[in-house]
Amino acid sequence: MRKPAAPDRSRCRVLVVEDDDTIGRHLETGLRSNGYAPTWSRTGAGALTESAQTPYDVLLLDLGLPDMDGLDIARTLRARFPDLLIVILTARTDDIDVIAGLDAGADDYLVKPFSLTVLLARLRAHLRRRTIASPAQEPIPLGDLVVDVTARRCTLHDREVPLRPKEFELLAVLARHLGEAVPRETLMAEVWDENWFGSTKTLDVTLAGLRRRLADAVVRPSRMPRITTLRGHGYRLELI
Ligand code: CA
Repeated sequence: MRKPAAPDRSRCRVLVVEDDDTIGRHLETGLRSNGYAPTWSRTGAGALTESAQTPYDVLLLDLGLPDMDGLDIARTLRARFPDLLIVILTARTDDIDVIAGLDAGADDYLVKPFSLTVLLARLRAHLRRRTIASPAQEPIPLGDLVVDVTARRCTLHDREVPLRPKEFELLAVLARHLGEAVPRETLMAEVWDENWFGSTKTLDVTLAGLRRRLADAVVRPSRMPRITTLRGHGYRLELI
């Protein structure tokens, strides 16, 4: 079992990818004065070079860059660094852009204009979640699907089902409450942050992704759990 450790923000390296001088400088100054170690890159190419040279903990990524699409950078760095915390900073507010960002591997997003205080709170929440170890738990059988929380692995007939980090955490919370109605607020608090104050659209987007990936994993007749939407309340995972 891992030992719980307090987040050491003095060593938390943040790669800021932002072509806007005002926002970039604001982020660099604000992060540094709050104990982070930021590096600011104005271009996508610069960010890829920088990330290949230095191990980063966090990527703050503007989507609209002069030389590359931020989504391509998110995809590339997610593939290279599975543990990197990726937060997208975007002026785009359409659902499709949020979904594309999360599908590209981002853990979270903030819509511009955002306040530094909010950004710092989100980072603290994500980093706290990553550094606090949970006790080892037995794998949870759900028909032919198995959720192994300790190993962070979901398998169907012993084949791994590829889930994004938040999809896995959502499935794990629902699995721990098998057969129970789980309120949206509980899911937001357990999977994201107890101080979540934004839209809960992220929950629905992540849930839709989870359903899709579970369905895609079924290649032969299998006993699968079903996630039922409880309108105005939340979700329930059950075995039929
Ligand atoms: Ca930009």
